[in-house]
Amino acid sequence: MSATETAAAAKSAAAPTTTKTIKRPKPLPAPNSDFYDLASTLPAEEKEVLKQVRAFMETKVAPIITKYWVEDAFPFELLPGIKELNIGGVAMKGYGCRGGSALLFGLIAMEMARVDSSIATFFGVHNGLAMGSIYLGGSEEQKQKWLPPMARWEKIGCFGLTEPLVGSGTSGGMTTTAKREGDTWVINGQKKWIGNSPWCDISIIWARDLADNQVKAFIIENKTTPGFQVEKIQNKIALKVVQNGLITMENCRVPEENRLQGDSSFRDTARELKMTRFLVAWESTGCAMGAYENALKYSQERLQFGKPIGSFQLVQDLLAKMLANITASQCLIVRMAQLQAEGKLSDAHAAIAKAFTTAKCRETVAWARELLGGNGIAAEYNVGRFFADAEALYSYEGTYQMQNLIIGKAITGFSAFV
Ligand SMILES: Cc1cc2nc3c(=O)[nH]c(=O)nc-3n(C[C@H](O)[C@H](O)[C@H](O)COP(=O)(O)OP(=O)(O)OC[C@H]3O[C@@H](n4cnc5c(N)ncnc54)[C@H](O)[C@@H]3O)c2cc1C
Repeated sequence: MSATETAAAAKSAAAPTTTKTIKRPKPLPAPNSDFYDLASTLPAEEKEVLKQVRAFMETKVAPIITKYWVEDAFPFELLPGIKELNIGGVAMKGYGCRGGSALLFGLIAMEMARVDSSIATFFGVHNGLAMGSIYLGGSEEQKQKWLPPMARWEKIGCFGLTEPLVGSGTSGGMTTTAKREGDTWVINGQKKWIGNSPWCDISIIWARDLADNQVKAFIIENKTTPGFQVEKIQNKIALKVVQNGLITMENCRVPEENRLQGDSSFRDTARELKMTRFLVAWESTGCAMGAYENALKYSQERLQFGKPIGSFQLVQDLLAKMLANITASQCLIVRMAQLQAEGKLSDAHAAIAKAFTTAKCRETVAWARELLGGNGIAAEYNVGRFFADAEALYSYEGTYQMQNLIIGKAITGFSAFV
């Protein structure tokens, strides 16, 4: 993205200010959180996709998203525009999917989160978790049936792993059960926090097979399966735009043809989770970028003691530390995408990226919030939204501690999971 495009983009996404303008001999540098120009490493065609995502996020999402965030509502008005971006099934080959590199997938999630982490999460849950589960664990027939309408965003998906009483410990403690009766499975249990579930079309539900005690995955059609109910989770303080639900399943009957044929134990679940952690690392880096760019712009405009606060040494210290966090995170995740493309990405590689980037995001958004003073907690200045959303990114798809246990096991050879 050129400096002029970045300047125009920053202007369109700008928060309101309460400052006077002062005349300057030359324009100030436009906020640009891609300091090492990582976007330039993409092939030209993928760069164009990224440019379109940025334009959409800045012209369509940025102007309306704070209102939706305050109201705890999902902006359905954006769905036609998201469809037009033609990014459904990015990084997946065939089945009507967009295709493209793992790097492009990550950069799209980062671009989205740079404006709003909930929209990035909506995209990640549908495209990464739901479609990804079918792409990685489905039979050829299942992929042919489900992926094309999902790639066209005609059927939106969610991913149900976490339960009300079991989050980090789902590998051994999952309580949702699946009992086979002939060619049908009977599913009972609850899933909590499931993104998109209050309104989406299909759910990937993970349940323990009562016969062999192994975790299996099922595609459930939310709106037509008797016994399947979703209650929207209210009063969240983070990721307020994406809708999360508490799913209750009472004797839901699911045909064997809807059981993901390639998934037969929690090891297969972990394969999907590796990809999710990959994506959250990009989202949290994008979240930090959004907070930083808003804070930098504010520092150029806000006057105290008759000078822009950005001219004070201690404010510059905050900004430099934010940009260093972001740049370190970006370099880490670009390498992670290369490992993924080479087929070498391990669970520990993805875990270290998720843990590091979400921790750095949390630190960065807190500095951004601090830089805005009181306006840092006012929704209309945007930074407060990034600040709150970072908390969910830090904890979902495996908490910081869980990532460190995965890394610890890989580097010491000892499992510290209890
Ligand atoms: C906004 C949001 C969206 C989400 N979306 C989805 C979704 O779409 N699908 C889905 O399946 N889930 C989703 N989740 C759930 C999320 O993945 C879980 O919240 C997360 O895995 C943590 O589980 P928990 O909340 O039950 O916390 P717990 O597992 O109860 O953990 C509580 C604390 O104890 C710590 N802890 C637990 N065990 C250990 C241990 N052995 N050693 C050290 N520390 C430990 C944890 O690190 C954490 O700090 C979402 C959550 C949120 C907040």
